[in-house]
Amino acid sequence: VTGDDYLREVAARIQSCLRESDFAARIGGDEFCIVIEDHGEDAAILTIAEKLLETVNRDLSIRGRLFNPRCSLGIASFPRDASGLEELLVAADHAMYMAKRSGKNDYCLFDERVASDERRRRDIDHELRQAIGRQEFFLCYQPQVTAADGRVVAVEALIRWRHPTRGVVPPIEFIEILEQMGEIVQVGEWVVRQACEQILDWRRQGIDGLRVAVNISPRHFVTGRLAETIAATLDETGVGPESLELEITEGVSQANATIVETMRQIQRLGVRIAIDDFGTGYSSLGSLHSLPVDCIKIDRIFIKDMLCRNQSSVILGTIIGLARSTGCETVAEGVETLEQAMTLHGLGCDLLQGYYFGRPMSPDEIVEQVRRGSAYPDKTGTEPS
Ligand code: C2E
Ligand code: MG
Ligand code: MG
Repeated sequence: VTGDDYLREVAARIQSCLRESDFAARIGGDEFCIVIEDHGEDAAILTIAEKLLETVNRDLSIRGRLFNPRCSLGIASFPRDASGLEELLVAADHAMYMAKRSGKNDYCLFDERVASDERRRRDIDHELRQAIGRQEFFLCYQPQVTAADGRVVAVEALIRWRHPTRGVVPPIEFIEILEQMGEIVQVGEWVVRQACEQILDWRRQGIDGLRVAVNISPRHFVTGRLAETIAATLDETGVGPESLELEITEGVSQANATIVETMRQIQRLGVRIAIDDFGTGYSSLGSLHSLPVDCIKIDRIFIKDMLCRNQSSVILGTIIGLARSTGCETVAEGVETLEQAMTLHGLGCDLLQGYYFGRPMSPDEIVEQVRRGSAYPDKTGTEPS
């Protein structure tokens, strides 16, 4: 009964803000629809919206109980935002959803661009949920070679999504969404298992001792069960822990005690920990030695700038030197030229990864590259310039 009184009072408040010629109705639950004809400028409608918010949101007392009504308003205009009644309601609903999402008790005008982003996002969510069941994910592998002689000693597993109509979708377009959806843990577990099975498959083809690095979301590191599932997967597949490395992005890795503890547990299993995109986060070089880390992957931004900006090569030298002094290996990401490779070798970097040595490729192509031997040209070293 109180609910009915509440709705009746809100309806009266809405009515008090409108003119004789305007129309209002409750269209379900706690939703009202207001139709205002010939409002002219947007400014006029916004004035009404503000008045509605102010009036409806006043404290409300029913039978001695105090309530704070809070409403959100979505505004759509005919014919600008819709071509018919049905569509106009959908547009208004959409705008209201945006207003709600802004977190304030607010109003929002319909915006086609925002609406289509929102729709696309909802479609992707739906498709991603299906992708897991339909096994549309697969892994590519990018070689990591020794800086000294260009031989493949490890690979990084990089996920791809074979979309039924859009073709192969890169991870930047869906990892973050999987994280927000809460599906990243499930996908991360799949990636680790898949990587282990690939190791076995390579072994059957006579390729042994190739380490596989896997990217793990910080959201997965905080679950508290990462080490446990990794241990189980190693156990079930019979892959040795030394064949596996987990990459975690810099910045998040040390800000969080749970993450650091998980990193320790993983190291105790004998699995390596690498810090990804090193140099882009906010960590200080000095804190490296206190972290359970076996390897740092220097972000490709430094490699890109290395040969044209002196500062970058100084930073590179410092990072590599410090990593060495703490017993960390270093991998340079995004090596695209022989010249970069030689310079990094000169600076003492251990491993190199990048298009110069190979793009992310299929498992079979990895086998070919391993069999081919050194990725360096016959005469190792750059031409004197
Ligand atoms: P990342 O871990 O830093 O991976 C390196 C990215 O740089 C890859 O992009 C790779 O293709 C690209 N790259 C490698 N060499 C070069 C080069 O020489 N030049 C340039 N310009 N780019 C190069 P990709 O495969 O699109 O992956 C992007 C990011 O997506 C990865 O960055 C990683 O953070 C994330 N990611 C990939 N696979 C997974 C996964 O299985 N799980 C999770 N959680 N994240 C993943
Ligand atoms: Mg990575
Ligand atoms: Mg990286």
